[in-house]
Amino acid sequence: MARVLLIEDDDAIRTSLGKALTAAGHVVSAVAAGADGVAAVARDKPEVLLLDLGLPDLDGRDVLAMVRSVSDVPVIVATARDDDASVVRLLDAGADDYVIKPFSAAQMDARIRAVLRRLGQDQQGESTVEVGGLRIDPRSREVTVDGAAVELTRKEFDLLLALSRRPGAVVTKRELLAEVWGLPWGGGDRTVDVHLSWLRRKLGETAAEPRFLHSVRGVGIKLAADG
Ligand code: CA
Repeated sequence: MARVLLIEDDDAIRTSLGKALTAAGHVVSAVAAGADGVAAVARDKPEVLLLDLGLPDLDGRDVLAMVRSVSDVPVIVATARDDDASVVRLLDAGADDYVIKPFSAAQMDARIRAVLRRLGQDQQGESTVEVGGLRIDPRSREVTVDGAAVELTRKEFDLLLALSRRPGAVVTKRELLAEVWGLPWGGGDRTVDVHLSWLRRKLGETAAEPRFLHSVRGVGIKLAADG
């Protein structure tokens, strides 16, 4: 199904999860330390990364940051903590999804499939959207503003694409969280806000002086040409 890289220092979990995911049809490689994991991401270009946060050599959040500096690979984090603040920090740091330890291999397999499904949906049969000077091509995942290319991270692009599917309509943060992160989960407004502010900066606008992304207080965001 997918080429999966597993970064997990617990020998028993690494072995059993590796076997179970292989049995589910994935091609699994596994390493036991964060530094080896970052190197493996750059070298092997896996399609999905499963990252244990509690590693012996590096903090899992630092590993996530290093991975993000070299790769847009979808990352599913395994964490022992499920408080909202920790989860929000992980999502802001670029995680795509998370599972709480202990988790079953079947649960992890379902998350892998869900992440890949969300990725696959983005490019299928959608046509280019133009709003004012902003042009979004879903298939090539290219964005230009007034003809100049804008480099977006995968999540920034996904957020813009989700808004571009309903140009002129107000989309709630809850809807964006469900559509872009696959998390029908309250308390994630800040995650949307953080990515939105990064997206705004790259599009050359601010919340106070929007050009394309207009906040509707207490409701959500809409993509529309200014004026
Ligand atoms: Ca661990």
